Amino acid sequence: MKSLVHFRHVVTSVEYDNDADHLTVWIRDLPGNKDNKEIFSHVVVASGAFYVPNSPSFEGICSFPGRIIHSHDFREAREFAEQTVLIVGSSFSASEIAVQLIRFGAKHVIVTYRQHPVNFKGTRSIEERPLLQRIDNNTIHFKDGTSADVDAIILCTGYLYHYPYLKGGLKFDTGVPVCVMPNKMYKGTVYTQGGNNKLLFIGPLDGSTSTYWDNCQTNHQRERR
Ligand SMILES: Cc1cc2nc3c(=O)[nH]c(=O)nc-3n(C[C@H](O)[C@H](O)[C@H](O)COP(=O)(O)OP(=O)(O)OC[C@H]3O[C@@H](n4cnc5c(N)ncnc54)[C@H](O)[C@@H]3O)c2cc1C
Repeated sequence: MKSLVHFRHVVTSVEYDNDADHLTVWIRDLPGNKDNKEIFSHVVVASGAFYVPNSPSFEGICSFPGRIIHSHDFREAREFAEQTVLIVGSSFSASEIAVQLIRFGAKHVIVTYRQHPVNFKGTRSIEERPLLQRIDNNTIHFKDGTSADVDAIILCTGYLYHYPYLKGGLKFDTGVPVCVMPNKMYKGTVYTQGGNNKLLFIGPLDGSTSTYWDNCQTNHQRERR
């Protein structure tokens, strides 16, 4: 099996040829330092959906003297021991990181939400406030008029879909700054806006639910029990 896989090869272009009804793929052979063209009947895009962080900006963010990271780069909760940490976002990463921070010694965690609070139960060390409006050095100003001083900020603000190698009719154009899945994606898997249903995706979420493949995986695990 291993002999059939090319490691250290980067896909640089995938384009659908209407007349020939196939996909032309350009691949950069890194060790050989050359570009090769190959023809495929179908292409499965599995290059990851949690790779390019979505990092929104806030007024005054440059004045913040502490550490600002995205959840993508969060590795070690102990680094934030004894600190007051602001978490921006209220989804899975925010919840998990908030709990970890408290478990490993953070003094206080403020989770700021745009739409709905997480409703943490059982710990007074995590509080929730509506979305931050501006940053003034260490001081964070929230939408409800309150403010708080924090030592570090962790952006749990999700990821951008980033497929720079999809060219021509396969290129996403969602018309919004934060890329979401195109509307016409059958079960979040088959791209139906170009490529004659020959471009398939594994991994990206459709914005509100897990993907078709995630559900398959979950069902499969359930059946095995
Ligand atoms: C901080 C963090 C924590 C997570 N925790 C969990 C968890 O606990 N449980 C869970 O299920 N998921 C978790 N995830 C999600 C996790 O990323 C996915 O479950 C899983 O890694 C997705 O696998 P994938 O193969 O789709 O993509 P990836 O693992 O991202 O793999 C994509 C591959 O494509 C390659 N690639 C990209 N572009 C090209 C190109 N142009 N040419 C050739 N190769 C390319 C990359 O080098 C990489 O090897 C987490 C993600 C993050 C960021």
